[in-house]
Amino acid sequence: MGPVSGIVEEYLSLKAETDADLLAMQVGDFYEFFDEDAREVADELDLKVSEKSSHGSSYPMAGVPVGELTPYLKNLVERGYRVAVADQHEVDGDHERDITRVVTPGTLLETTDASAQYLATVVRGDGETFGLAFVDVTTGRFHVTQVGSLEDAITEVYRFDPAEVLPGPALRSGAAFDAFRNRTDATITHHDEEAFAPGAATHLLREQFGEEALHSLGIEPGSPAVQAAGAALAYVTETGLGVAGSFTRLQPYRADDHVELDVTTQRNLELTETMQGGRDGSLLETIDHSVTAGGRRLLQEWLQRPRQSRPEIERRLDGVEALAKSALARDAIRETLTNAYDLERLAGRVAHGTADAGDLLRVKETLALLPDVAATVSDTPGLSESPVAELVQAPNRDRVVELSGELEEALREDPPKTLTQGGLFKRGYDDRLDELIDGYEEATEWIDGLADREKQRLGITHLQTGRNQTDGYYLQVGRSETDAVPEEYREVKALKNSKRYTTDELEERERRILRLEAEREDLERRLFEQLRDRVAAQTDRLRETGAAFAELDVLASLATHAVENDWTRPTVVEEDVLDVEAGRHPVVEQTTEFVPNDATLADGRRFLLVTGPNMSGKSTYLRQTALVVLLAQMGSYVPARSAEIGLMDGIYTRVGALDELAQGRSTFMVEMQELSNILHSASEDSLVILDEVGRGTATYDGISIAWAATEYLHNEVRAKTLFATHYHELTALADYLADVANVHVAAAERDGDVRFLRTVREGPTDRSYGIHVADLAGVPAPVVSRAEEVLGKLRAEKAIEARGGGASGEPVQAVFDLGSGQFKGDGSDPEPSGQDPDVEAVLEDLSTVPLEEMTPVEVLSRVRSWQERLE
Ligand code: ADP
Repeated sequence: MGPVSGIVEEYLSLKAETDADLLAMQVGDFYEFFDEDAREVADELDLKVSEKSSHGSSYPMAGVPVGELTPYLKNLVERGYRVAVADQHEVDGDHERDITRVVTPGTLLETTDASAQYLATVVRGDGETFGLAFVDVTTGRFHVTQVGSLEDAITEVYRFDPAEVLPGPALRSGAAFDAFRNRTDATITHHDEEAFAPGAATHLLREQFGEEALHSLGIEPGSPAVQAAGAALAYVTETGLGVAGSFTRLQPYRADDHVELDVTTQRNLELTETMQGGRDGSLLETIDHSVTAGGRRLLQEWLQRPRQSRPEIERRLDGVEALAKSALARDAIRETLTNAYDLERLAGRVAHGTADAGDLLRVKETLALLPDVAATVSDTPGLSESPVAELVQAPNRDRVVELSGELEEALREDPPKTLTQGGLFKRGYDDRLDELIDGYEEATEWIDGLADREKQRLGITHLQTGRNQTDGYYLQVGRSETDAVPEEYREVKALKNSKRYTTDELEERERRILRLEAEREDLERRLFEQLRDRVAAQTDRLRETGAAFAELDVLASLATHAVENDWTRPTVVEEDVLDVEAGRHPVVEQTTEFVPNDATLADGRRFLLVTGPNMSGKSTYLRQTALVVLLAQMGSYVPARSAEIGLMDGIYTRVGALDELAQGRSTFMVEMQELSNILHSASEDSLVILDEVGRGTATYDGISIAWAATEYLHNEVRAKTLFATHYHELTALADYLADVANVHVAAAERDGDVRFLRTVREGPTDRSYGIHVADLAGVPAPVVSRAEEVLGKLRAEKAIEARGGGASGEPVQAVFDLGSGQFKGDGSDPEPSGQDPDVEAVLEDLSTVPLEEMTPVEVLSRVRSWQERLE
């Protein structure tokens, strides 16, 4: 860079070089922000703004001391800013400044938040293929996958909850971009398009992970997954942290190894946060008894990714069972793990070369726990034969013990805060260091005793030694006695009440001390770096041990919750069943005297229509059933007396969309989108939870859609379904559709009050409750009876046929009469009931409309047109 006219000009020209939101530029002992940036930063961080004038103009300026940059940066980045940092260095006596790094939400190393901190890249390939990479610089995790739809891509992004998302070139605007934007509060960064190019990405990945890595991991060179991974790596490299080297392992995963849980379902089931957005009251918060940060991260991962493969589920369940049955050992293990630090994060810092002595001590202390834990496991008969034993044997114990032993021999327990203060190492660790320390101590002892010796020798009372930056070591004598100093004393400074002197001897010691200090500092730094490099070479040991501790912590946490809440081990089977006996809602049971309920879905009753009055417990019943399945497939015990769970490939839900309403999106539109997604995505092996369908529109609209959706799910999709509805009319379907069964949540009437029994019973509710509740609530009798009359009128003279679904698959042609709530005849010759030819035409249309070929929205508009014709 040529001569720059002024600081502010230099700032502005550096700012123009970067696409970061803010620039922090070092000016001497401060990092300064100027101009717009100064105002913004001052606003966010409550800093004072001053004025800097340059070339006749005046600019706002805000600064932070060099030593305090990190917390400020962290604060800004956690608020979503990307901050460029320009450091100052000296070249031929001149100051030069360059941007050395850009700190961004997805690449922040200094985070203190225990949750994972992902940077995500999303690339759209041909058609509906999406490549995704998720990178956590704090732990070195590097996941990559490919999915087959936008919806699945969004689901993955929601699951990883990244701090920053880099959309690929084709995803930077339009509907797909909006869809992402709406589902994540991550910072969105438009990184260089070149980084996403297939060739460049493939090349970069090969360089990082080795020629063979892609091949052996089964990842197609040039594929969207590779583009995503390559771009993520390029970004991490370009932000200048020098941390890319800490990614040693690319971890491809298949989204379809896991139970499909779309974003809506994760929210509806309140897995990690409640519908209101808080963590309290979520399933995670309820079942989390983990004692380590790694354990908590893993528990969340398991919860959001239940498995489809039985061996893995059984392995986890075996582990939970073993720990559930060994209370003492479990307590001992959890107690030990309480002392574990976040090994995954520490491994990251060691690998980046940012670990300090305190970090290495924490590594040592944590590694040293492994033999303890392993001993507890092998001494406990119930555990020594279980998967828990395999877990603790996974890390190479000899190497771990060796490493923690080496750290133990090397490092003092109370290391100084910075590497330059000296005192990192124990005596006996390095001969040369010991020599330097001996020499140093000898010299400082001589100086420490000097004042006393001189007082005695010279008979001076006010004499002391001291040291400071400018004068170095000195002897200080009070003014009243300066006449008594001997001639070898050379004055270095006169103060108001005293004078400072030095002597040849003192100077000689001082030179020695300075030399020893410098050499010691230098040696300690080198020794430390060597030690850190040796630990870095064992990063994989650290990660293995961290992973073992995290999993052990999760299994122990699940066991603890199971024991404390009387949960049972589910039987997970390949067969097509779902049979929960006395099931409970895992969260609701924490605060309520819970009434357990059974849920049985199998051939002959794959589709349960759940009716019952408002507030009776329908939603709770639906959700608890879904949660039992989810818990079982993540490898947890479940809140039930017994549970037999046939493996599901997905859980889909649709429940009242409160939050969307708050966001101002039409609830009915959202409801239909969710329904549409379910009808498209669910399979015979899925569990579908529908909590009211069609409520957001007029009654007949609603019934029609609910009716058609029931038929479609029953006949075509064949998913196991629980459908709570207030359309009492639908319950008649059970007689005609082979796999539909009715259950209801019972309520009893006593002393004019509805008493909720919370018990789920076979069969439909015996009445539609709305008017009845109005009656109970004391609505005047004439209003109640008039309401009954109106309801009767509304229902009169309308008939619908039920389609399809006989046991043989033959279409059943029965006519449902909304007036009586009954089916009439076999409907093979439907009696046109309306006299009006318009009504007849509508009915004709209604009976032939090809529901299977229509989207719910098309159904909706068709129904609307009927309504118009009937008016
Ligand atoms: P609905 O969906 O029928 O309107 P909810 O499922 O929302 O009813 O339940 C209403 C209330 O009843 C909730 O506060 C819930 O905590 C409680 N509840 C539901 N089921 C049970 C049960 N089995 N045992 C105890 N309380 C329950």
